[in-house]
Amino acid sequence: MSGTSSSGSRTFPRDVLELKSLAEKQPALAPAATLQVDLIDAVRRVQGRLTTPWIETSADTLNAKLLSGQPLLDFPQIAFDWNDVRLLVRQVTDVLRRHEVIDAATAAALHAVGRSPTLPDMMRGWFEQQPVLDIEMLGEVLGWAARPYLQRTAEVLQQRVSLERWTRRVCPVCAAEPEFSVITTSGDRQLVCGRCHVRWGFSAIACPYCGNDDRTRIKSMATPDGIYRVMICSPCGRYIKALDARKANRPLLPYVDLIATLPLDAAVMQTQS
Ligand SMILES: [Zn+2]
Ligand SMILES: [Zn+2]
Repeated sequence: MSGTSSSGSRTFPRDVLELKSLAEKQPALAPAATLQVDLIDAVRRVQGRLTTPWIETSADTLNAKLLSGQPLLDFPQIAFDWNDVRLLVRQVTDVLRRHEVIDAATAAALHAVGRSPTLPDMMRGWFEQQPVLDIEMLGEVLGWAARPYLQRTAEVLQQRVSLERWTRRVCPVCAAEPEFSVITTSGDRQLVCGRCHVRWGFSAIACPYCGNDDRTRIKSMATPDGIYRVMICSPCGRYIKALDARKANRPLLPYVDLIATLPLDAAVMQTQS
């Protein structure tokens, strides 16, 4: 292949470099970090081939949607290339199998999903957060396979609207839950979508999963360097991790920070057991 990789790969090299250095510095995180690098690699190859999707909806309509509390993106607006989606389902499955995340039978079932004529329906069900087939890791595999398209469409939509007044607990673009968060240099909080990586502002204290805003019922822990924090909500039992931009000397790298904070997940599990 020629060396003319295009715009789609622009955010990845830093992620990959940071993951590789993380694997060296913290050997316990090496398996998770190298798995993540392989997944990013599969997505990046498809991302490099994407063109910018054309969204017909006007900026006025999009802003009106946000004001009425509706997320922007509908499934038919995502410009999937189904051949590439099928390829990604296969490659992501192979990566998971190679890293022994799934067994051979599960891999065979996931490969069958990739070949199935109903893959677009399954993807729609996943996007609309309906129950999917009972196959281990299916949601994750569909998520990685959808990612290049979802992220590109989200980028385009985001340029057309202001997300400033969106204060709901789900992503303003794709309606998914937040997976991570950032404490900004001014001490505000931004939530980060687990699917399209869009960020939006949210109360710095309330739980983004159940809305509980009683400080006394939210526990907070930080890594010794203060770069990462986690907020654990007693009423719903869920937690969200954060990069504290006041302490970190780099911006959020969602793929990296998710792995770098695995020790925090372990610490949370200990407090809950
Ligand atoms: Zn989203
Ligand atoms: Zn909660």
